Amino acid sequence: MAELEGLEFGKSDFVLLDEVTMEQFMENLKLRFEKGRIYTYIGEVVVSVNPYRQMDIYGKDNIEAYRGRELYENPPHLYAVSDAAYKAMKRRAKDTCIVISGESGAGKTEASKYIMQYIAAITNPSQRAEVESVKNVLLKSNCVLEAFGNAKTNRNDNSSRFGKYMDINFNFNGDPTGGHINNYLLEKSQWCSDEMLQSFHLQNDPAVYVYTKEGAETATSNNDRSSHKAVLSALEVIGFSKEEINSVYQILATILLLGNMQFESDGESVNIVGQEVVNHISELTATEPDSVNKSLLYRTVATGGGEVIEKGHTEQDALRCFPYHIFTVALYERLFGWIVSRINSIIEVKDYDPVLHGKNTVIGVLDIYGFEIFDNNSFEQFCINYCNEKLQQLFIELILRQEQDEYQREGITWQHIEYFNNQIIVDLVEQAHKGIISILDEACLTVGKVTDTVCLDSMDTKLAQHPHYTSRKLSPTDKSMDFQKHFRIRHYAGDVTYSVEGFLDKNKDLLFQDFKRLMYNSANPVLKEMWPDGHLSITEVTKRPLTAATLFKNSIVALVDKLACKEPYYVRCIKPNEMKSPVLFDDARCQHQVAYLGLLENVRVRRAGFAYRQLYARFLQRYKMTCEYTWPNHLMASDREAVEAIVIQHGFQDDVAYGQTKLFVRTPRSLFTLEQERNNLI
Ligand code: ADP
Ligand code: MG
Repeated sequence: MAELEGLEFGKSDFVLLDEVTMEQFMENLKLRFEKGRIYTYIGEVVVSVNPYRQMDIYGKDNIEAYRGRELYENPPHLYAVSDAAYKAMKRRAKDTCIVISGESGAGKTEASKYIMQYIAAITNPSQRAEVESVKNVLLKSNCVLEAFGNAKTNRNDNSSRFGKYMDINFNFNGDPTGGHINNYLLEKSQWCSDEMLQSFHLQNDPAVYVYTKEGAETATSNNDRSSHKAVLSALEVIGFSKEEINSVYQILATILLLGNMQFESDGESVNIVGQEVVNHISELTATEPDSVNKSLLYRTVATGGGEVIEKGHTEQDALRCFPYHIFTVALYERLFGWIVSRINSIIEVKDYDPVLHGKNTVIGVLDIYGFEIFDNNSFEQFCINYCNEKLQQLFIELILRQEQDEYQREGITWQHIEYFNNQIIVDLVEQAHKGIISILDEACLTVGKVTDTVCLDSMDTKLAQHPHYTSRKLSPTDKSMDFQKHFRIRHYAGDVTYSVEGFLDKNKDLLFQDFKRLMYNSANPVLKEMWPDGHLSITEVTKRPLTAATLFKNSIVALVDKLACKEPYYVRCIKPNEMKSPVLFDDARCQHQVAYLGLLENVRVRRAGFAYRQLYARFLQRYKMTCEYTWPNHLMASDREAVEAIVIQHGFQDDVAYGQTKLFVRTPRSLFTLEQERNNLI
């Protein structure tokens, strides 16, 4: 048991701190990290510090130790919450979800893998072949998405993806039957480079083209070759056809070639340096070289008079590679989206008959960036932080409201908990007409030269009265912001200053219809399938595509809806240092994360309520041997009275409340005592 390890390892649950202060929190976190205890609870929430070394805590023995046990019976571990989520799902037919958050490199993806592995290990005890195959495909899907999503592994924070949500479906036996994946991508501008291909080990060398054509291996090291093979074999296991896999690699090679393309200008017209590259691209994408040429150098525009003209890119555009850059990013995004939807169509549960098979239940695993604050915060941080406001809303709603409801049901007095309701910040961002996203969208739709600064002016005008919004213009004495470009949001986790520079461009869909048409006209059916909107000509495109912020908002709203109907479990990940060192605990960096993850607030909410509750009958069943009046059977009028006898015998009557059907225990300490007693007896 966690508590029995002794205090030299620190406190295994932050609710046991003498005082809820940042100092005490950090002291405990550091001590545990240094003693190799990377997990600590806040009630049922797991706080995890990335150990940056192999830990001997994930083996078969560990899995067995946690299987079917209660949270407080073992040291804190991901396996314990995985088991709790699984038990709730199986025994009470509840849909559950595990929300893993933290900054890039904090260990979210590793945590999600351990959770999946745990679930895979404890399900299907009879080893039925079809279940094993479902499990295998689910695990392999993860591997493929990692290969694509973690484009740049060296500095995770440049990775384009910021979130992944996977539903695992279970039948009434509690065995996996399928799943569904949602991916949350952020378009990163620095992203169009060869790094994104590193995971495929396609070399930054036109010879790569030979690779896709001949199927020859250009990857150099053995290591490259084996991880490349792993992805390839994963794709095959999942059920991608040869043609599909080929197309994937052809598109990746196209992206690479586009990234290498160079332009020159004679002052009048812009040209591509070397026709070879155009031929390569046309071959890889099964399109006409002429069309490739044209879409790279011209764009079709409809004039006011309904005329259609071809307009050459300006020298400035072409030399900055702007249109191609956007095209390249879009190619990758569409490819990624297509892979996810292919996987989903393969792993989705088919022919499930609830009458015949019982209720189909779900465990969702969300791996998502936590609150971000950098020296320079842009559109991406704005989106991520908005997402975290939404998740915080959900956290408040689910945890607090659920608690409150249960107390009411059980007839226990609810002590009002002071907490900050961040709805006001959510509104600031997403409210129709006057929220920041609406203002951005409006600016994007305005014809003519609307700049980021004009947009900032508009925000200043409309949001001047908002208590969570400010800018230099609104607080002229605040020299930490620049007049022209900064605004600040007071987030639930703290203040963040954003630079509005680039907001409009990142929000607009700047991809020319010409590129979409080029791809749609490909003779490769896989590629064509990714670009259904390319069938329209420029005059037929009447509706503006949704902006990035609105698409993002919609996807987050949908995600929150999915989570809202599930019983949540949380894993909060912390990166101990920037050096990937297993021994360094960077106090300032860690404290920063503790603050932005809202962990202190979390402890306060937990301590205000009851950490543990159990039905009288269940409680009795487990602990009746620890009390002479209840063992082997009690003679009292009710289970409740029998439970009272146990509580009084162990002297923690001040730590409990008696509900209609359940005993409520304020701190886990009392349970530790009981568990210890019980262990001594059996
Ligand atoms: P994130 O998904 O939060 O960006 P990752 O899960 O990819 O971060 O973790 C980054 C790196 O940290 C991993 O590649 C691994 O080397 C190390 N790491 C994370 N969690 C663990 C763990 N539990 N045990 C050992 N190493 C870990
Ligand atoms: Mg990750």
